Amino acid sequence: MASDPNCIFCKIVAGTIPCFKLHEDSASLAFLDINPVSPGHALVIPKAHAPTLFDSVDVDLAAAIATARRVATAIDKVLQPAGLNLLQANGPGAGQSVFHLHLHVIPRAVGDGIRMTWEPKPGDMAELAKLAERIRGAF
Ligand code: AMP
Ligand code: ZN
Repeated sequence: MASDPNCIFCKIVAGTIPCFKLHEDSASLAFLDINPVSPGHALVIPKAHAPTLFDSVDVDLAAAIATARRVATAIDKVLQPAGLNLLQANGPGAGQSVFHLHLHVIPRAVGDGIRMTWEPKPGDMAELAKLAERIRGAF
Protein backbone atom coordinates (compact mmCIF):
# COMPACT_ATOMS: atom_id res chain seq x y z
CA MET A 1 0.00 0.00 0.00
CA ALA A 2 1.31 3.48 -0.89
CA SER A 3 2.66 5.31 2.17
CA ASP A 4 4.68 8.50 2.72
CA PRO A 5 6.97 8.45 5.79
CA ASN A 6 6.62 12.24 6.14
CA CYS A 7 2.81 12.27 6.00
CA ILE A 8 1.00 12.77 9.30
CA PHE A 9 -2.05 10.75 8.21
CA CYS A 10 0.17 7.88 7.01
CA LYS A 11 1.70 7.94 10.49
CA ILE A 12 -1.81 7.66 11.96
CA VAL A 13 -2.52 4.71 9.63
CA ALA A 14 0.75 3.07 10.75
CA GLY A 15 -0.15 3.68 14.42
CA THR A 16 3.04 5.66 15.09
CA ILE A 17 1.02 8.71 16.16
CA PRO A 18 -2.29 8.46 18.01
CA CYS A 19 -5.77 9.41 16.93
CA PHE A 20 -9.31 9.26 18.30
CA LYS A 21 -10.27 6.37 16.04
CA LEU A 22 -13.91 5.94 15.06
CA HIS A 23 -13.79 3.13 12.51
CA GLU A 24 -11.49 1.31 10.15
CA ASP A 25 -11.54 -1.34 7.49
CA SER A 26 -8.79 -2.71 5.29
CA ALA A 27 -8.75 0.35 3.00
CA SER A 28 -10.02 3.30 5.06
CA LEU A 29 -9.81 4.90 8.49
CA ALA A 30 -11.99 7.43 10.33
CA PHE A 31 -10.96 9.53 13.32
CA LEU A 32 -11.91 12.77 15.05
CA ASP A 33 -10.39 16.00 13.73
CA ILE A 34 -8.01 17.37 16.36
CA ASN A 35 -9.27 20.94 15.69
CA PRO A 36 -13.01 20.33 15.47
CA VAL A 37 -15.14 22.96 13.78
CA SER A 38 -18.14 21.35 15.51
CA PRO A 39 -18.60 18.50 18.02
CA GLY A 40 -18.14 15.21 16.16
CA HIS A 41 -16.10 16.71 13.29
CA ALA A 42 -14.43 13.64 11.81
CA LEU A 43 -11.98 12.85 9.03
CA VAL A 44 -12.15 9.84 6.77
CA ILE A 45 -9.09 8.81 4.79
CA PRO A 46 -8.11 6.08 2.39
CA LYS A 47 -5.27 4.17 4.06
CA ALA A 48 -3.21 4.34 0.87
CA HIS A 49 -1.36 7.62 0.53
CA ALA A 50 -2.56 9.96 -2.20
CA PRO A 51 -2.09 13.71 -1.72
CA THR A 52 -5.30 14.83 -3.42
CA LEU A 53 -8.36 13.69 -5.32
CA PHE A 54 -6.34 14.05 -8.53
CA ASP A 55 -3.86 11.38 -7.40
CA SER A 56 -6.41 9.00 -5.91
CA VAL A 57 -7.61 5.69 -7.31
CA ASP A 58 -11.27 4.74 -7.53
CA VAL A 59 -11.11 1.75 -5.18
CA ASP A 60 -9.57 3.80 -2.34
CA LEU A 61 -11.94 6.68 -2.86
CA ALA A 62 -14.89 4.26 -2.88
CA ALA A 63 -13.73 2.80 0.44
CA ALA A 64 -13.42 6.28 1.97
CA ILE A 65 -16.83 7.50 0.83
CA ALA A 66 -18.51 4.31 2.04
CA THR A 67 -16.82 4.75 5.42
CA ALA A 68 -17.86 8.41 5.48
CA ARG A 69 -21.48 7.29 5.12
CA ARG A 70 -21.11 4.84 8.00
CA VAL A 71 -19.41 7.48 10.16
CA ALA A 72 -22.11 10.04 9.32
CA THR A 73 -24.79 7.51 10.26
CA ALA A 74 -23.14 6.80 13.63
CA ILE A 75 -22.70 10.53 14.34
CA ASP A 76 -26.31 11.13 13.37
CA LYS A 77 -27.46 8.48 15.88
CA VAL A 78 -25.29 9.78 18.72
CA LEU A 79 -25.39 13.56 18.24
CA GLN A 80 -28.59 14.03 16.26
CA PRO A 81 -27.25 17.11 14.46
CA ALA A 82 -29.53 19.46 12.52
CA GLY A 83 -27.56 18.49 9.39
CA LEU A 84 -24.17 17.31 8.22
CA ASN A 85 -21.70 18.43 5.54
CA LEU A 86 -19.11 16.39 3.70
CA LEU A 87 -16.20 18.58 2.60
CA GLN A 88 -13.00 17.76 0.79
CA ALA A 89 -10.17 20.15 -0.17
CA ASN A 90 -7.60 19.79 -2.96
CA GLY A 91 -4.62 22.11 -3.07
CA PRO A 92 -3.66 25.19 -1.06
CA GLY A 93 -6.08 27.30 -3.11
CA ALA A 94 -8.92 25.18 -1.72
CA GLY A 95 -7.62 25.39 1.84
CA GLN A 96 -6.00 21.94 1.99
CA SER A 97 -3.43 21.78 4.79
CA VAL A 98 -2.74 18.02 5.05
CA PHE A 99 -1.70 16.45 1.77
CA HIS A 100 -3.22 13.00 2.27
CA LEU A 101 -6.69 12.85 0.74
CA HIS A 102 -9.40 13.19 3.38
CA LEU A 103 -13.10 13.81 3.71
CA HIS A 104 -14.35 16.09 6.47
CA VAL A 105 -17.58 14.89 8.11
CA ILE A 106 -19.03 17.96 9.81
CA PRO A 107 -22.14 17.72 11.98
CA ARG A 108 -24.11 20.96 11.89
CA ALA A 109 -26.26 22.85 14.38
CA VAL A 110 -28.71 25.63 13.59
CA GLY A 111 -26.90 28.95 14.08
CA ASP A 112 -23.46 27.33 14.39
CA GLY A 113 -21.94 30.11 12.28
CA ILE A 114 -20.31 27.72 9.77
CA ARG A 115 -21.01 29.27 6.37
CA MET A 116 -21.11 28.23 2.75
CA THR A 117 -20.00 31.64 1.58
CA TRP A 118 -21.15 31.79 -2.03
CA GLU A 119 -24.41 33.35 -3.25
CA PRO A 120 -25.98 31.34 -6.10
CA LYS A 121 -26.29 33.51 -9.25
CA PRO A 122 -27.61 32.24 -12.61
CA GLY A 123 -24.78 31.47 -15.08
CA ASP A 124 -24.49 32.62 -18.68
CA MET A 125 -26.01 29.75 -20.76
CA ALA A 126 -23.61 30.19 -23.70
CA GLU A 127 -20.60 30.19 -21.38
CA LEU A 128 -21.92 27.13 -19.54
CA ALA A 129 -22.36 25.26 -22.84
CA LYS A 130 -18.81 26.15 -23.99
CA LEU A 131 -17.28 25.18 -20.68
CA ALA A 132 -19.16 21.87 -20.55
CA GLU A 133 -17.85 21.05 -24.03
CA ARG A 134 -14.26 21.85 -23.03
CA ILE A 135 -14.47 19.72 -19.89
CA ARG A 136 -16.15 16.81 -21.75
CA GLY A 137 -13.19 16.94 -24.13
CA ALA A 138 -10.78 16.34 -21.25
CA PHE A 139 -12.19 12.97 -20.07
P1 AMP B 1 -7.57 20.32 5.39
O1 AMP B 1 -7.38 21.76 5.78
O2 AMP B 1 -8.82 20.08 4.58
O3 AMP B 1 -6.33 19.75 4.75
O4 AMP B 1 -7.83 19.56 6.75
C1 AMP B 1 -6.83 18.97 7.51
C2 AMP B 1 -7.43 18.68 8.86
O5 AMP B 1 -6.61 17.76 9.53
C3 AMP B 1 -7.57 19.91 9.75
O6 AMP B 1 -8.95 20.11 10.07
C4 AMP B 1 -6.75 19.54 10.98
O7 AMP B 1 -7.35 19.97 12.18
C5 AMP B 1 -6.70 18.03 10.90
N1 AMP B 1 -5.56 17.41 11.54
C6 AMP B 1 -4.26 17.70 11.35
N2 AMP B 1 -3.49 16.87 12.09
C7 AMP B 1 -4.33 16.03 12.74
C8 AMP B 1 -4.15 14.96 13.65
N3 AMP B 1 -2.93 14.56 14.05
N4 AMP B 1 -5.23 14.31 14.12
C9 AMP B 1 -6.47 14.70 13.72
N5 AMP B 1 -6.71 15.70 12.87
C10 AMP B 1 -5.65 16.36 12.39
ZN1 ZN C 1 -0.27 9.91 3.68
